[in-house]
Parts: sequence; structure tokens; C-alpha cells
Amino acid sequence: MSAFLPPGREVFAFLGLGSNVGDRLAHLQAAVRHLHAQRGVRVDAVSSIYETAPVGGPDQDAYLNMAARVATTRSPLGLLRACHRTERARDRVRTVRWGPRTLDVDILLYDDRRIATRRLQVPHPRLAERPFALVPLIEVAPGARLPDGRSLVRLLAARAPVRDVVMVGRQVVAP
Ligand code: AMP
Repeated sequence: MSAFLPPGREVFAFLGLGSNVGDRLAHLQAAVRHLHAQRGVRVDAVSSIYETAPVGGPDQDAYLNMAARVATTRSPLGLLRACHRTERARDRVRTVRWGPRTLDVDILLYDDRRIATRRLQVPHPRLAERPFALVPLIEVAPGARLPDGRSLVRLLAARAPVRDVVMVGRQVVAP
């Protein structure tokens, strides 16, 4: 499968970024720059930064999370590859599932596509149940819906009251 869309096509995708090891803010700032520097990826809006409690996995430190809207000429798998490259650039080591990480970059939404393959599921399969992903995503995608028509705001309201997702500022800016 090609890493790029047919010539002339560009779509919007939404990424969720998280870090809970080391200088968390520096990882997120560098990630946005690194993503933007890759061919066919233009970060054109970023959310605020949120401090969030870890969900699942072993006992671990709090995360900083954010979302980014990217205009991309990459195919879904091409964009996933770009996300992995950015994770590796921040020394991401895959150990335990849902364990601590310097950087996690997930594709939350890609155009209005539903993708269900072994390597990639879009919308991200746990998006609907994760306020730490929904809250920043809604900031950069107000009014957005999942491909099945469910609104992000309604999904978030269904998780109310939301605790442990605290806005800490706008320390990362779009390149
Ligand atoms: P994680 O360790 O949580 O970052 O999970 C990464 C793995 O999940 C990758 O190897 C991907 O192939 C897979 N994956 C499936 N869907 C997605 C998605 N929407 N965004 C990022 N990774 C995904």
C-alpha cells in the first residue's frame, strides 16, 4: 500500500499525543516539530496541554496529553509510519502494553474513514471511552463526529463527570 494519497489529494487527520517519562513537555514540543518536518504532514492546529491520570497498565506517573490537527497527503498507513518515526525520535521503547512512555502518538481520526486492519484501527478503538483523548481532540475538532455519526461532545458527556484531565496551558504552538 502506498504511503501517499493520489497526487493532489490532502485530508485532515487528528492525532493524540501523550508523554509520562522525562521532560514531558519537551517531548510533546519536539513531537509536533518532528511530525511537521515529515513529508506530507502539516500540523495546522494544536490543543492545550492537559495533565491526566494514567488509565490501565502498571502503576505509573501522570501524563501530559494534547491533540493535533494535521493536513496530510499521506495514506493512513503512511501517516501511522510517520507517527512511529516521531515516537522513535524521542527514544520511545515499547515494553509493557499501556506502560510508561516518553512519547505516544496515535491516529484518532483520519478524514471520515473507518479502518479496521490488524495494524491500524481508525477511529482509535478506545477513543470513545478516553476523556484524556476526547477533551483535547474536541478543542481542535469542535463539532466532529465519528464515522458512525456519534458526536465527540456527546461521547464525552457520557463519561461525565470527568476528573483527572486538567488543562495546564498552551505551551505547545503549531509550527
Ligand atoms: P501503542 O503501544 O499503544 O502506541 O500501540 C501501538 C500499536 O497500535 C501500533 O503498532 C499500531 O500498529 C497499533 N494501532 C492500531 N490502531 C492505531 C491507531 N489508530 N493509532 C496508532 N496506533 C495504532
